[in-house]
Amino acid sequence: MTPQELDAADALAHFRDRFALPEGLIYLDGNSLGALPKAAEARVLETVRSEWGGGLITSWNKADWVGMPQRIGDKIGRLIGARPGEVVACDSTSINVFKALTAAIALQPGRNVILSESGNFPTDIYIMQGIEALTGREVRAQMVQPDEVEGAIDDSVAAVMLTQVHYKTGKMRDMARVTELAQDHGALMIWDLSHSAGAIPVDLAAANADFAVGCGYKYLNGGPGAPGFLYVAERHQNAVTPALTGWFGHAAPFAFEDCYEPAPGIARFLIGTPPVLGMAALEVGVDLFLEADMAAVRAKSISLSQLFSERMAPLAERWGFALASPADPTERGSQVSYRHPEGYAIMQALIARGVIGDFRAPDILRFGFTPLYTTHAEVAAAAGHIDAVMAAREWDRPEYKVRSAVT
Ligand SMILES: *Cc1c(COP(=O)(O)O)cnc(C)c1O
Repeated sequence: MTPQELDAADALAHFRDRFALPEGLIYLDGNSLGALPKAAEARVLETVRSEWGGGLITSWNKADWVGMPQRIGDKIGRLIGARPGEVVACDSTSINVFKALTAAIALQPGRNVILSESGNFPTDIYIMQGIEALTGREVRAQMVQPDEVEGAIDDSVAAVMLTQVHYKTGKMRDMARVTELAQDHGALMIWDLSHSAGAIPVDLAAANADFAVGCGYKYLNGGPGAPGFLYVAERHQNAVTPALTGWFGHAAPFAFEDCYEPAPGIARFLIGTPPVLGMAALEVGVDLFLEADMAAVRAKSISLSQLFSERMAPLAERWGFALASPADPTERGSQVSYRHPEGYAIMQALIARGVIGDFRAPDILRFGFTPLYTTHAEVAAAAGHIDAVMAAREWDRPEYKVRSAVT
């Protein structure tokens, strides 16, 4: 089928009109910052004008600002196979990584290693290293090669933390199998779902996962700097005294007591006042996903990424791109990456043509596929632009080689 025929048969096509996308732009970076849902504009304006401006402090109750972390958390939970009361929307992914790791360590007396893979997203590794330093190196942050993780799980390992879909290559881990393996060795399993939530169907309950974290501003379209989320399996919640003991996690925050006492359940993993404006935008993005069938989202994602890799195959040969993602679309998330020594400049030239992907050092060009708003026609056109950039050496201009702060 042609890209146009694929789009005509696409059951998710009607979602595109729910997003405010600039005319003519081909946006293949929803894996980094999701597009703006049209309803988010109205919702944030309403929250500012009416709830903040009009309701002022009364909106904490009247507009249920205070319930946002749990309410939005439960909605995210439905997308990732969690039960009600197992997810909160809060803080950044980095902070939630800290919370999950320290909770897992607290549950595992006698075990002192937290294990991950080298090349994981840097913040996950840095937070592990920070915990090592904070504990006077009593807890050890251990990073091994990706294919050595499973063999490195022994009875010293308190927790294994992995990103389910790798941020550079898109390579996807088998959540159920790895979780079972970790637990067979007595370790707890923490999944980073930053590139999974809203991208692929996830079933934390079926996998019996212990903890998970993820991002609100990527596939969930929650807006720049949107709060992330934290999942704690119900069986662990009341067994943990959180490392970050803030008043929003207190059993009675408005009793204003001197002594910390954790709230029952997932609420104890909250720290402080939620960022209401960011939460309001995030809820709109999550609500959109609740209208979509994740199996259909996955099927379209595979169809888009297959079309792209088919169109890229001859270009890879001609212009020296090396596929950095698994060739089998069922083994990757919702992105396809290529290596090229001039990757940064090529991406700048593409952006100048209105095709937005991103670059990850040292040499990765990343293209994300977001089935709610990406079309097959755009994907085919993007490959055409890549060919044109290479044929005319458009990338070979000094201004495309100057690195910005954010790549
Ligand atoms: C994007 C991403 C993050 C981002 O963390 P922030 O705290 O939101 O900056 C963390 N981990 C992974 C795996 C990511 O892909």
